[in-house]
Amino acid sequence: MSFRVLVTDKISQEGLSPLAGESRLEVVQENDSTGAPFLAELTQAHGLLLRSATRVTEELLAGAPSLRVVGRAGVGVDNIDIEACTRRGVAVFNAPAGNTVSAAELAFALILASARRIAAADRSVRVGEWDRSRFKGTELRGKALGLVGAGRIGGEVARRARAFGMKLLIYDPYLTDERVRELGGERRELDDLLREADMVSLHVPLTESTRGLLDRHRLSLLKPSTHLVNASRGGVVDEEALAEALCEGRLAGAALDVYASEPLAEDSPLRSAPDLLLTPHLGASTLEAQERVASEVAQAVRAALLDGDLAGALNAPSVGGAVLRRLGPLLDLARRLGRLAVALAPGGISAVEVGYAGDADDALGVLPRHVLMGLLTPVLGRDQVNVVNAAVLAENRGISVSTRRLARRTLPGERVEVEVTTSGGPVSLDGALLGEHHPRLVGLDGYDVNVAPSGTLLVLRNRDVPGVIGRVGTLLGAAGLNIAEYHQARRSEGGDALAAVVLDGAFPGEVLEQLAELPEITDARVVELD
Ligand code: NAD
Repeated sequence: MSFRVLVTDKISQEGLSPLAGESRLEVVQENDSTGAPFLAELTQAHGLLLRSATRVTEELLAGAPSLRVVGRAGVGVDNIDIEACTRRGVAVFNAPAGNTVSAAELAFALILASARRIAAADRSVRVGEWDRSRFKGTELRGKALGLVGAGRIGGEVARRARAFGMKLLIYDPYLTDERVRELGGERRELDDLLREADMVSLHVPLTESTRGLLDRHRLSLLKPSTHLVNASRGGVVDEEALAEALCEGRLAGAALDVYASEPLAEDSPLRSAPDLLLTPHLGASTLEAQERVASEVAQAVRAALLDGDLAGALNAPSVGGAVLRRLGPLLDLARRLGRLAVALAPGGISAVEVGYAGDADDALGVLPRHVLMGLLTPVLGRDQVNVVNAAVLAENRGISVSTRRLARRTLPGERVEVEVTTSGGPVSLDGALLGEHHPRLVGLDGYDVNVAPSGTLLVLRNRDVPGVIGRVGTLLGAAGLNIAEYHQARRSEGGDALAAVVLDGAFPGEVLEQLAELPEITDARVVELD
């Protein structure tokens, strides 16, 4: 059988080479995806390759009855209705790594340009000035570069920083100590990194935990001699607070490639802020990156059409719908345990073991992917992780995964255990599914607990002394937080104890700080499980 692949959005021609020279593939190019020729081609297309201009909607899919695969030459898939594709059995691929080096080089260009005030100096020469003293810069050699997020792009920036003789500070709670060492960096808590670094470069995804990460307070921790670079995602930095800090001379300089809303609003305070370099989201805009992402995704489309290989797809279900329906509540519990494990992890994760006891012989084949999905979503972002790619993503991050059949318990219900190895010590979670639909968290690091793994879960470690529950309850009550369930567990009288508290509604960050300040509390963590 032969297949037609429709290419649109001016994709790099060189990048299409994986589709060339194959008699079973016919490639058709129509750059204008609103025109009649494109829509006519669409009716016969088996594959569709695009960038960000074409929107894959329910309506477009209705006009593409033979479509089996969509390939996005780039990372973001905001222009593709993935759920609609899944409903129609269309696999979706993207190219998550093709622009890593280009993005890292742009970040480094911004670091250098900010340190040497290159854009402002250029503007000054163009208006007839020759003012060398105003543009005195700083050397990078010997300075501390603070990397917030050190995955693919942060890692490449780290290598370049080392070549410039910089010292590396890293804040990335999800990295193992081994990876931090490999990068030649020293681990820091975020606030310490911000206080210490001479240059700060952000390389995190936009997730619940990174939105507004550099807020007004955190920006105030930076030294007045520090430069800040953001080529990751808009929304990570409070733009108004940054503009104010620059206007008031509380920062030496900053450079941004990404914005909370793009294109940047005409009246954004950033446009008039001093010592600030602005570029219009150019991280992936190089010939090489465009070619590489096109080639990566063309390769994936080719393998999907010719060999049925859906391994890297963002959406294709890994097991049949009937299995998913039967195991649904168990898989949901697995995702919640994964999410809880990453919130409780005291260091970067290097191994995950998933155990199961129950009647479903096929459960252990699918449970690990769902645990990993829960575990990686807060780390990499909701749009990057799914059931199909979770195992590959874990492998890429050096996380080993194993499974174990558990001996049947005397307790009723099916059981899922998750053991996570981290550089700061292990985390172990025990979940039970009672009846068909009642998930419970029944064990946490060897403590017997019994709470629903839903809503806002607060996990406190404390010394087993009188009055703790009262003080915690008073503090939560004063903050207007309603306790749905409170389970206090201890191993021995007067020793270490643990409380699992389920709360209604969102949890304000300052309450966690107040709890951590109570003398009996040794650790306080909170996780949103819904
Ligand atoms: P990646 O997933 O390889 O790395 C992201 C890292 O951030 C991971 O190591 C993760 O552990 C870490 N992280 C997650 N949450 C964190 C938190 N709360 N605090 C600290 N670290 C946290 O991603 P990548 O490919 O390196 O991309 C990084 C960012 O760059 C993404 O936001 C991506 O969208 C963006 N990007 C921008 C451009 C551009 O044109 N400017 C181009 C490509 C990618």
